[in-house]
Amino acid sequence: MKAFFLFALALPMLAAEPDWTVVEPYALSLLQRYIQIPSINPPADTRAAAEFMKREFEAVGISVKTYQAGTGNQMNLVARLPGKSKAKKPLLLLNHFDVVPVDRAAWKGVDPFGGAVKDGFIWGRGTLDMKGIGVMHMIAMITMKKMGLVPDREIVMLATCDEETGGDLGVRWMLANHGADLEAEYVLDEGGLGTRDVFRQGKLVYGISVAEKQPLWIRLRATGTAAHGSQPNADNANMILLAAVAKAMALPEGAKPNAVVEAMRTASGGAFAEGKFTAAIQRNTMTLTTLRSGVGDPPKINVIPSAAEATIDCRLLPGVNADEFISDIKARMNDPRITLEVTNTPPGDPGTSNFETGLFRALKQVILKYHPDAEVTPMLVPYSTDSTKFRTKGLPAYGFTPLVLPANILATMHSDSERIPLDQFYTGVRMMFDVLRSEF
Ligand SMILES: [Zn+2]
Repeated sequence: MKAFFLFALALPMLAAEPDWTVVEPYALSLLQRYIQIPSINPPADTRAAAEFMKREFEAVGISVKTYQAGTGNQMNLVARLPGKSKAKKPLLLLNHFDVVPVDRAAWKGVDPFGGAVKDGFIWGRGTLDMKGIGVMHMIAMITMKKMGLVPDREIVMLATCDEETGGDLGVRWMLANHGADLEAEYVLDEGGLGTRDVFRQGKLVYGISVAEKQPLWIRLRATGTAAHGSQPNADNANMILLAAVAKAMALPEGAKPNAVVEAMRTASGGAFAEGKFTAAIQRNTMTLTTLRSGVGDPPKINVIPSAAEATIDCRLLPGVNADEFISDIKARMNDPRITLEVTNTPPGDPGTSNFETGLFRALKQVILKYHPDAEVTPMLVPYSTDSTKFRTKGLPAYGFTPLVLPANILATMHSDSERIPLDQFYTGVRMMFDVLRSEF
């Protein structure tokens, strides 16, 4: 009797489990074929990527709509899987087709657009950012559909042509022109991750990002007097610029404590590991990214130029006012020979997504199912993602990357050895499927 009861209880659960021996090879082949489409941005030609995704969805009867955002082949795509509840607004899954360019010569022994499996990794541009997650979204929807499982609420997946150059033709264009197609209660995007060393050495901390820093980009231009390099003058634009950059970047200490960073610190056992990531999330940062100067190409060594330029990539913590930050920089430089131009202003402080929600709890539950030893925490990320564009509209947007990555693999994103651990990719596929079949 007891044995029968157990059997009867186990049967429906077994029936609801996909045949992973079939799903996994399909997921791998999907990711490999996707990587083989070089959807580099610029120019964000994503027509082939959109057609590829459309074919896979339509083959199982998932409805797809594509949108031409630019004048050429910049395509966005929306796929929809209807849900049981009409009262609940959809969950929006967000990913992007586009990838950053590659320096082919620097890819040692691997084709960046090959999708080869080697040493336990899938290699290629976009594996981490973010075709791997895009495929997890696809597989979760396709598997639900194939098994006849209806999600609790409608699932809407948006894949965009442009995230890597700011999203003007991607999320921003979709919200401006087809906002009604993106109606949702929650957004699930890239952003967070699980890791055993980025936050705290030897401790699995799993972050779901709920906030990010605000990018503020500035250009400093110094003007001086052009002259012969044999006779130094006090009005040398290069020297004026260097002095101003040093003063501008002398940041005052003492940023206000941030609640999300404090939650991360607690999850990390009270103290962060030292590293550039943990340093960046605790303060406002400024990075000198470009310097331009000289007369002629190549620039002449014996000519003092009349102008010199530098760009600084500033990243502000949530709650920091960009205008006040700029006034502070100007006051520190205090030099009339320097002009400051803001080339990218944050679109207003998007703040932090509420993480006391049904979806956040569902994500936490799924993470703990696969990683019972994980410390799950809301997370602030130092870079920017498309989530901001939804947060500024008041939607909770979470960065959920269902991968456990060591710092050295995370660092391959945008690099010449970008790769995703195969076992983590497969676990991520299962996790995303479990998120989609959760009720929240
Ligand atoms: Zn990305």
